[in-house]
Amino acid sequence: MKYSLFLLFFLITSCLFAQQKMVAITIDDLPFVRMNLYSSNEVIQKTDQLLTALSNQNAPVTGFVNLSKVYSSGEFDLTRFNLLRQWLDKGFDLGNHTFSHPNYNYVSYTDYISDIEKNEPMLNTLLAEYHKSLTYFRHPYLHRGNNKAKADSLIAYLHHKNYIEAPVTIDNAEWIFAAAYDSVLKTRDTKIISMVGDTYIAYMESKLKYYEQQSARLFGRNINQVLLIHANSLNADYIGGLLQMFTRNGYSFVSLETALKDKCYQTEDHFYKNGGISWLDRWAITQGKGRDFFAGEPVCPEFIMKLARVDSE
Ligand SMILES: [Zn+2]
Repeated sequence: MKYSLFLLFFLITSCLFAQQKMVAITIDDLPFVRMNLYSSNEVIQKTDQLLTALSNQNAPVTGFVNLSKVYSSGEFDLTRFNLLRQWLDKGFDLGNHTFSHPNYNYVSYTDYISDIEKNEPMLNTLLAEYHKSLTYFRHPYLHRGNNKAKADSLIAYLHHKNYIEAPVTIDNAEWIFAAAYDSVLKTRDTKIISMVGDTYIAYMESKLKYYEQQSARLFGRNINQVLLIHANSLNADYIGGLLQMFTRNGYSFVSLETALKDKCYQTEDHFYKNGGISWLDRWAITQGKGRDFFAGEPVCPEFIMKLARVDSE
């Protein structure tokens, strides 16, 4: 009897551990996307909404900063800069996303690294106040270099500066949903606003399932995933639903540091084309996977694309 109880306990616990899925949440383009659409108070309040929901779920987050965004009409804007303190006050971490978000496909290595370094002095000072330091680097547009020489020089530079590259596995079109959301918020049409939000969560769930499948195909298991989203109005309002969706799918939220302990992140990446893609896609292409390996990837719905376009016009 004792033995069978022990066996039952063993089976239950091993089953639970087998189901443990982990995701690290990373949020780009801090302090906030399209700040000009909102008053300072609105942006402060939206940031608080976003961070409070994350904090309530004990979700560790690394936020990636572009300090060019704290300048308004060329002038340093302290109110915008102080948005970053909201992240640190809640215990979240900040990383370097370059000063002005250049596209590495179109700028030289020298210009690119000077943009990385332009982001450092103010961030270093701010982080030091919170007994933290700059550790992670996230490539704008997820571009690591569109030829081997550029990619290798950047890797060597980041390594030399003790930066850890922040990969992304669950890449997605959240930024298009966010542009659509900003455009419908202005209409105050609650029906369409919640339609965009609800479609966003359903889309993100389909993306999550797609990348779980790709992970299983490449590694025979679900790797520690890294999610990329942005600091925007959409997530200020829908982060709760997004976190719930991950929990419903068996995920616990972990820091980037914990996620990156997964050995999958040592996989070779020899993708040198222009695309900004998931690391899972990079690894698959490096391993010579053909077109059908990528079949079934969820796409952004047409009506969301249209709403997003209206906003950018
Ligand atoms: Zn970005």
